[in-house]
Amino acid sequence: MNIVKHKSEIVDLLQELKSKGKTIGFVPTMGALHRGHYELFRQAKKENDFLICSIFINPTQFSDAVEIDNYPKTLDQDIALLNKVKCDFLFIPEQKDLYSEQNIIEKSDLIDLNGLDLTLEGEVRPDHFKGVVFIVKTFFDIINADRAYFGKKDFQQLVIIKHMVNELNLNVQVIGCETVRNENGLALSSRNAKLAEEEIIEASFIYMVLKECKQKLKSLTVEASSSWVLDQFKNHASLTCEYFKIVDSRTLQPVTSLHENKSVVGCIAVKINNVRLIDNLVLSD
Ligand code: AMP
Repeated sequence: MNIVKHKSEIVDLLQELKSKGKTIGFVPTMGALHRGHYELFRQAKKENDFLICSIFINPTQFSDAVEIDNYPKTLDQDIALLNKVKCDFLFIPEQKDLYSEQNIIEKSDLIDLNGLDLTLEGEVRPDHFKGVVFIVKTFFDIINADRAYFGKKDFQQLVIIKHMVNELNLNVQVIGCETVRNENGLALSSRNAKLAEEEIIEASFIYMVLKECKQKLKSLTVEASSSWVLDQFKNHASLTCEYFKIVDSRTLQPVTSLHENKSVVGCIAVKINNVRLIDNLVLSD
């Protein structure tokens, strides 16, 4: 695997491959890689001639510098995992080589996100998705990939990136990959590394409740099912539910009933010992 730190170097390497007609699959990450990321790499590797992974803890999507400092960093293990999946390029840029403050001003209001960024995570993390869109567009400009892979675990992020690509008419196919879970159903996340073993077990309650909510919706209204979910957490000693919303999977706006031909997703954020976990489940296709 070729480890590249400079933007100009990766641009040259990838341009050469593209000029030879090779396809490039890109997986952007913030590192602390796990089996969830691995599945993205595997799919990208299978569907493209070359796989490039980036590791960059993006300051523009955090509101708090402490959060950035606390984000888990495991570069040696990450490199081992990337070697295992035969990744071709690892791009680990420094912030100053990627963008300037001026770039942020120019690019962060690049497109209208149609309110997709204001609901769910956007309500608790203002400007988070503007930061995500900014950095993903910055990487897309550098890498010029044929396909880019994102996890459905970050469902809102995936919807917003697809929206950006559509709005800007970018020549990259955005592919959503299924959420990878542990044996108890907990969605794998780099943040799980901050949890103790017992907390990991407790956190699998989130997926249990999401699955049960899908069952409830067969006999209860959307409102009653949502209240049922919130009640489950009210009674839980260590898990605090920040939000649970049943939304239209295209607009991310709350729905009041399940209609045919409308894909509906239950999105949840839960705190355990100050670690924020998000998850979602398709409740109706
Ligand atoms: P992150 O490093 O957390 O920014 O994640 C990088 C990419 O991996 C994002 O597209 C995530 O949605 C995806 N990802 C993270 N965890 C999982 C998971 N458990 N299953 C599938 N994709 C995931």
